[in-house]
Amino acid sequence: MISAEIVSTGTELLLGQSLNTNAQYLAEQLAALGIACYYQTTVGDNAERIRSVITHALERADMVITTGGLGPTMDDLTKEVVADLWKLELQMDAEELARIEAFFARRGKKMPENNKKQALLPAGAQKVPNAIGTAPGIIVEKGNKTIILLPGPPFEMQPMVETTVIPYLARKVGTEPTVLFSRVLKVVGPGESVIEDRLRDLLEHQSNPTIALLAKDAEVHVRFTARGHSQEAAKGCIHRLEQEVRQRLHPYVYGADDATLASVVGTLLRQQSKTLAIAESCTGGLIADQMTNIPGSSDYLLLGVTSYANRAKQEVLQVPATTLEQVGAVSAETALAMVRGVQALAGADAAVAVTGIAGPGGGTADKPVGLVYIAVRNGQEEIVKKIQTFGDRRTIKLKTAAAALDLLRG
Ligand code: ATP
Ligand code: MG
Repeated sequence: MISAEIVSTGTELLLGQSLNTNAQYLAEQLAALGIACYYQTTVGDNAERIRSVITHALERADMVITTGGLGPTMDDLTKEVVADLWKLELQMDAEELARIEAFFARRGKKMPENNKKQALLPAGAQKVPNAIGTAPGIIVEKGNKTIILLPGPPFEMQPMVETTVIPYLARKVGTEPTVLFSRVLKVVGPGESVIEDRLRDLLEHQSNPTIALLAKDAEVHVRFTARGHSQEAAKGCIHRLEQEVRQRLHPYVYGADDATLASVVGTLLRQQSKTLAIAESCTGGLIADQMTNIPGSSDYLLLGVTSYANRAKQEVLQVPATTLEQVGAVSAETALAMVRGVQALAGADAAVAVTGIAGPGGGTADKPVGLVYIAVRNGQEEIVKKIQTFGDRRTIKLKTAAAALDLLRG
């Protein structure tokens, strides 16, 4: 199998000023082509370090794809480094020079002297035309190794990849047709380590498909990636393992791929022709936000109330003053009163309410930060659940919203 490494250059990436979306984009393209990518490196605008990174990458992989550093300024060094590394002369490409001059002429400007260097190409290189900006991309081959140089701006790089680089790579892999297929199972409830325990033997003996666990804010995602000679073969290869994993993680797998907890709840409500009302205290509208992210949710979502103050809980949701005084806002009784109140207010078939302590302040020994009560009503049937979440304020809110939607899904 052919392998490629991605080398992203740019000090702004190292400083966290720009997000490296080019690496993600390129990695996706390589995966779709069935080209293995075992390493990605990010390096600043420094000739020595770029040279070292490319040298190492070439020792490991058949191909190196770089992004960034093809511009006209002094910190744009990638092409110069590669020419020096492979002892290739940089030659002025007359056609490219005319194109860059025309680029400036169209804008009523004279080409600055330093843009000339963008028309320099290593001897024997293949050009990757740039229809949007000034710098052409470059493909150079030496022995059985290839280096592909692409510019940094994503809106220049992506069309170049689509029109020239993908067809080039497709020809390279032509002799070895393999495709990659990925699928993600979404799990809510148990943490990453509990899931790892249940899947330990599968994780330890994986080959094709591979399995990886990804901890997201309030969920864990199990990603399967399979290689095959066709999309169908790769899919089939995942299917068997997916069934095994679903069984082991039952009942915590709530969906796959694009599904969210909210979309699963929305689908259930739609199937059962039921309406929903939401009352939120500590989540401040997050559950309503997640539900309304689903297109068409107005078909079933009637009302969302953010009843943050006790007075709002009393006046809007009819939570009895005695309940708030005697057991407090964060209690099973208040959650139940909230859910009854919002269901009645909206005239909804189902309702959910949450109340808890998002922190970082406000916790006590018997009601610590992260303590949450969730109540759900389905017609007359009601259930209340106490959970203890951990994390910062945002994490506690996300986990509470996830637990509430999970309880709602039944
Ligand atoms: P230019 O001619 O614009 O200088 P260049 O090929 O020299 O192009 P860079 O100077 O490295 O590219 O980057 C130009 C801009 O492109 C950066 O400021 C950044 O906004 C964007 N960019 C560069 N690399 C990446 C990347 N890996 N992911 C996303 N954006 C990037
Ligand atoms: Mg630049």
